[in-house]
Amino acid sequence: MTQRWPLHPTPGHGEALTSWLHRLATRYGMDLDQLVRHDLTPPGAPAPGSTGSLDLDAPSELITILAARTGVPVEQVRRMTIAGWVPWLLDSLQPEPVPGGAFDTYVRQDSVLVTSKEHPDREVTNWRAWLPLNSKNRPVSRVCPVCVESTTDGSLTFPLIMQLPITLTCPRHGCRLDAAFGSYAFFGWEHSKTNDRPAPRQVVIQDARTEQALRIGTVALPRRTVHVGVWFRLLRTLIEELSIPLSKLRTRPRRSIELIWRKVGHPARAGIVGAARTYETLPWPQQEMYLEAAATAIHLVETGEIEARGTLGHLLTPEPDRPAHDGLPPRDIWDEAREAMTEALTLAQQDPLAAEHMLAILTSLTRTEKTFRGIRGDLIDLDVPEAFLPPTLAAMRSRRTSPGLSHNSPVAIVHKT
Ligand SMILES: [Zn+2]
Repeated sequence: MTQRWPLHPTPGHGEALTSWLHRLATRYGMDLDQLVRHDLTPPGAPAPGSTGSLDLDAPSELITILAARTGVPVEQVRRMTIAGWVPWLLDSLQPEPVPGGAFDTYVRQDSVLVTSKEHPDREVTNWRAWLPLNSKNRPVSRVCPVCVESTTDGSLTFPLIMQLPITLTCPRHGCRLDAAFGSYAFFGWEHSKTNDRPAPRQVVIQDARTEQALRIGTVALPRRTVHVGVWFRLLRTLIEELSIPLSKLRTRPRRSIELIWRKVGHPARAGIVGAARTYETLPWPQQEMYLEAAATAIHLVETGEIEARGTLGHLLTPEPDRPAHDGLPPRDIWDEAREAMTEALTLAQQDPLAAEHMLAILTSLTRTEKTFRGIRGDLIDLDVPEAFLPPTLAAMRSRRTSPGLSHNSPVAIVHKT
């Protein structure tokens, strides 16, 4: 039987697997490779070739042993890797079935600012959403300077999302992330001067939505709440549309996209001239410009300054006013609630994250295990798979609160900044 480690700092909120493994290894005076080789690889099995790839996908045996050693549920450990976010963040980590299929399915199936017909054809092969192709497989690429300054006991955690080109700010402090390089034990800033430009409000809102998507599986948009998978596809599609050569657009969408770049204060298409380039291959400063432009685009659609004519565009505008007398019985908030509940149930029947979230909402005022079991049983009767639902109230509460406990875990490591 795999023995529980006596000391095991709990994972931080959204922490990357290797960041947590580094903190665990430090506790026992080891480095990350030693911990993986000696304590997390089954006897006779080959150790993972590179610990750098563990954040992408970790062998299931390693996850099982780690869960047993620490008491952290397998599913929570898996979510510390990119593979744990398939199919919400990206469709698959497997090779694409047909060349260009992954890109077409993720980026070109829907549209936001322009109609799908206005998306110029282009083939992007061997592509995976959001995974930076220029990261050189290094664990540390962006860090919050305030987190570094305010953490003195070595318990600094590195969220998985910060290592991907999806957010610009720290979810705890709201300040911009700074580019960094190196390893968890020793990293340096890429620029000697801290990036002290404040993050615009619309960027903070965009990042808060991403953070909410990862935390609870849904995002509240002006029209309605959408599933985490819809949010990431909307954002990536929007970035693609902002990279379309302006000469290929008709007058109205071209003016909208020119206005977005003017308002955000960066050159159109982040200064790229000629054919479109793939976002994931761009250097970070240009990715930063695209993320700011996406946030500005969403803000301008929400305020009605530009029109979003694509299939997902309506999600960014509030519900249109209904005429008072349209011949139908008047609707009230309970009609809306019933519709939302039906939609949530359909999601929960297919998606473990949505199922857990639904159970958490329905039992938010519940104090006893008996009532919890009753509500859980009702969901199972409604065809929500039992395996999607935490078995007890205590298990569910601990899953939803444990990340926050990690900040008290002292680990002696020195960060060279
Ligand atoms: Zn921070």
